[in-house]
Amino acid sequence: MSRDDEPEGYHAAEYDSPRPNVFIQWKGTDVCGDYYCVCGEQWHLDEDFVYYTRCPACKQAYRVGCHVRLYPLTPEQAAPHEGRIKEDHDWTRDEDTK
Ligand SMILES: [Zn+2]
Repeated sequence: MSRDDEPEGYHAAEYDSPRPNVFIQWKGTDVCGDYYCVCGEQWHLDEDFVYYTRCPACKQAYRVGCHVRLYPLTPEQAAPHEGRIKEDHDWTRDEDTK
């Protein structure tokens, strides 16, 4: 379901994001981001509520997406982070849907 002020297909490109990825539900959180436009410009924002941004060079407006790439770690790369790697402990596989 889309909001009335969002055109049809507004989120379609994001739903087709290749795995692995994470869908982030932004909650107005302060985000420090480096933004890269297709025109080659780069800019930086460190603010709350950055749901939209505009390239300062070519003036293209963007909606900040909710999908972020996940980068697989080898066991050796993961080892120093053990204990801080978050898992969903409530997640259970539904045996009937396999
Ligand atoms: Zn640009």
